[in-house]
Amino acid sequence: MTICDHIPNDRVTRVAEAERATFVARNPKSAALAESAGRHMPGGVPLHWMKDFGTPFPLVVDRAEGAELVDADGHLMADFCLGDTGAMFGHAPAPVVAAIRAAVGDGLTAMMPSPDVTRVGEGLADLFGLPFWQVTQTASDANRAVIRWARAITKRPRLLVFAGCYHGQVDDVFVARDEDGRTVNRPGLLGQVVDLSATTVCVPFNDLAAVERELARGDVALVLTEPALTNTAMVLPAPGFLEGVEAACRAAGTLFCLDETHTISTARGGYTRAHGFAPDFFVVGKPIAGGLPAAVFGFTAAVEVAMRRVDAERPHGYSGVGTTLSGNRLQLAAMRACIEEVMTADAYAHMLTLSAVLADGLAAAIARHRLPWSVTRLGARAEIVHSPTPLLDGAHAARTVDHDLEGVIHLFLLNRDVLVTPFHNMTLVSPATTRAHVDRLVVAFDQALDALAG
Ligand code: PMP
Repeated sequence: MTICDHIPNDRVTRVAEAERATFVARNPKSAALAESAGRHMPGGVPLHWMKDFGTPFPLVVDRAEGAELVDADGHLMADFCLGDTGAMFGHAPAPVVAAIRAAVGDGLTAMMPSPDVTRVGEGLADLFGLPFWQVTQTASDANRAVIRWARAITKRPRLLVFAGCYHGQVDDVFVARDEDGRTVNRPGLLGQVVDLSATTVCVPFNDLAAVERELARGDVALVLTEPALTNTAMVLPAPGFLEGVEAACRAAGTLFCLDETHTISTARGGYTRAHGFAPDFFVVGKPIAGGLPAAVFGFTAAVEVAMRRVDAERPHGYSGVGTTLSGNRLQLAAMRACIEEVMTADAYAHMLTLSAVLADGLAAAIARHRLPWSVTRLGARAEIVHSPTPLLDGAHAARTVDHDLEGVIHLFLLNRDVLVTPFHNMTLVSPATTRAHVDRLVVAFDQALDALAG
C-alpha cells in the first residue's frame, strides 16, 4: 500500500507506467534536447536537482510568461510551480522586464551601488517594516550572512532550527533529528565531514518547551525558522507558538530570524507583517526581484548598531559575508520595479482569492474520492497533504510524504498541461493565474484521483 490505504501500490505502478509512456510520446523535442545536453551536462540539466521533477527526461522550457510556460514541444502549460516561488509574481512581470531592459545597457555589475539603492532600501523598509537591509544573490547567501552576523553579535556559537526545515545551501543548518531526538547531520548530504550537531540543535516545530529548554543554556546565537514549514509537507505554526519563540528569544538574548522566502505568499509584507511579528532579522529571496537572482536580509536598528560595533572590533580582512555579484545594478533595478509595481495590494488580493478557490477545488476532489487527505493554505500557496488533520511538526510531515505517489500525480498533471512543484504537492497562484488555469488543475487532479483511487 501507499501512504494511503485507498491507493494500492500496483495501481500506482500501472498509472506511472502509462503516464511515463505518454510523457515520452508527447515530448520528442525535449527528449532530443535532453540527450544532446546530456553529452556535457549530466542528466541533460545545468544543475542536478532539476532532475527532481522525476520525469523520464527533463522537460525543456522554451519560454514562460505570466502563469504559463511553453515547453520545447509546444505544450502550453498552466504553471503552479512558478519556479518553486522564484516566479511567484508571474514569469517575466512586465515592470521588471522593462526595468531590466532599461538598466542592462549601462553595465551589468560594478561592485559599487547604482542610484536605485535608495529606492530599494525605502521600498523594503516600507514593505516589511524593518529599517535596515542588505542585498545578496540568493536566499541561501542571505541566511548564511545572518548566521555569521548573529554569532558575531551575540558571541555565542549555537544555532537552533526546526526538524524539517530548509534554508538553502547553508551548511550550518543541514541537520535533522534521529529516532532518539538527537541532532544529527541530514542523511543524504554530499561530502559532509563536519558534525553539525556541535553547533546546531534541531528541535520539533510547534514544541515551545523544547525551544525554551535549549535557549536556557544561554549559548544559542540565533533561532532561524520559516513562519510555517514549507519545505516538507506544509506545517503551520500552532496558535501562540511563534509568539512564544519570539518571546523566548528576547528573554534569552538570542536573535530571531524569520526566513520568508516561501511564506512571502501569505500576504503583502509576508507572514511577519500579517501576524505582527518583530524579528531581529528577516530574509526573503527568490521572487523579490521578480525572478532575477536576488535576495535580501533586513534587520532592526539595534542589530545595525551591534553590526557596526562588531565590525569595528574585528581585525581588517575577510568578514566571511559577501559574494562579488551581490547588489549589482540589474538586481537593484529589478527589485525596485518588483517592490513598487508588482508586489502590490491588488496583486496579492487576486492571488489570495484565487488560491482559496483552488484549495477548495482540490479539497472537493479529495472529498469526492473519500481520501484521508487535506489542503493546507498559506495565502497564495496551497498544498495537498496526505493527512486528514493539520501536520504538527517535521516528523509528522515526513510520515505523510510518499514520493512515488506524488511523482505519479505530478506526471499525470504534466501530461494534461499542468505543472506543480516537484518536491511535494505544492501549488502557487500568481497575479497572472486565471480561473481557467485553476479549473484545469482541479479537473486534472480529480482525474488523477479517478485513475489512482477509482
Ligand atoms: N529559504 C527557504 C525557506 C527556502 O525555501 C529556500 C529554497 N527553497 C531557500 C531559503 C534558499 O533559496 P535559494 O535556493 O534561492 O538560495
